[in-house]
Amino acid sequence: MHLDPFELHRPESVDATVALASELAGRFDYLAGGTDLLPNYKMHINLRPHLIALDRVSELGGHSLERIGATERLADLEADEAFLAAYPVLADAIGEVATPLVRASGTVGGNLLVETRCFFFNQSYFWRASLGFCLKADGDKCHVVPQKERCYATFSGDLAPALMALGAEVEVAGSAGRRRFPVAQLYDAGGDGIHRTLLAPGELVVAVHLPPSSRGLRGRYKKLRVRPSYDFPELGVAVAGRWEDEGPVESLRLAVGGAETYPRRFDELTDPLAGATLTDDRVRALAAEVTQRVRPVHNTFLLPDYRRRMVDVYVRRAIAEARGGRAG
Ligand SMILES: Cc1cc2nc3c(=O)[nH]c(=O)nc-3n(C[C@H](O)[C@H](O)[C@H](O)COP(=O)(O)OP(=O)(O)OC[C@H]3O[C@@H](n4cnc5c(N)ncnc54)[C@H](O)[C@@H]3O)c2cc1C
Ligand code: SF4
Repeated sequence: MHLDPFELHRPESVDATVALASELAGRFDYLAGGTDLLPNYKMHINLRPHLIALDRVSELGGHSLERIGATERLADLEADEAFLAAYPVLADAIGEVATPLVRASGTVGGNLLVETRCFFFNQSYFWRASLGFCLKADGDKCHVVPQKERCYATFSGDLAPALMALGAEVEVAGSAGRRRFPVAQLYDAGGDGIHRTLLAPGELVVAVHLPPSSRGLRGRYKKLRVRPSYDFPELGVAVAGRWEDEGPVESLRLAVGGAETYPRRFDELTDPLAGATLTDDRVRALAAEVTQRVRPVHNTFLLPDYRRRMVDVYVRRAIAEARGGRAG
């Protein structure tokens, strides 16, 4: 496998990046760490003739307890003990992404916008050609759910569920200016499954903002994967909240990724728990309700029925560990 030639651009400010994106509309990809994009390019998936590298845009880097720049590398967050202690759910998720080598290059923005995955898609050009390609790249039909309208590839980023559970916001810049909105509203739940976010064409992720109320929340991220040292999630469950050991719940948020085309948060199930004590019975009922709602399809290594049944286990496990005990 080889990389086809492309033209590399290296702007030095957010404004210059956005202006270049307008000029190259539809003919470029942003390049951060490249750990997701370049392997896909090597497999000749959705190639563009131009890449806009983000490494020289200083505003996109750095992190504090309130803000993470889009090009901040996962390894930089992992090395900051105060940061990890402030956000246990994020600490879990960062440590579960790929391998230390990948985390040394992979960025937070790239992780939020990581390409969705499917075993009919993450294949060489020749492999895909032998099947007549598929809707997501070069073809017009889906092999997983046979039809021609929607792709069901799986969202496989680890950070999104954790950031959603923390109530984080994403700041983006585009030709219409800057805007900021919850990470929970970044992904397109009702779309075609190919254009995976609600970003406008060419919009650049500038940073992630963590609200002060999310600091010090109890939390856990539990990830199901085939090889624990390496693999993408087959399921990821993030919980974050505030409650006393035997006291009422002040806040609780739960998000699931790695199971469907987009990660999602289940506020309709956790909001009613505010003011209640988090008993084993309530946790079991919550886990059962989340399991009812999550619907994986057969496009990753593990069978959908198994992944779905593991939702129940991982929700109970995540909450139990956030409480400091064993799953009830
Ligand atoms: C062997 C291997 C294992 C992996 N395992 C995991 C895993 O377990 N969990 C996981 O979450 N990921 C995994 N990944 C995927 C990837 O390494 C990480 O998600 C990483 O954080 C992606 O960041 P990046 O900077 O390399 O993204 P890139 O590859 O540079 O970009 C990814 C996508 O985001 C877009 N993009 C990047 N930055 C911006 C921005 N600021 N604004 C707008 N668009 C942007 C790019 O155009 C591209 O479409 C794995 C990758 C490999 C190679
Ligand atoms: S879910 Fe269907 S359209 Fe999407 S990548 Fe897989 S085979 Fe292609």
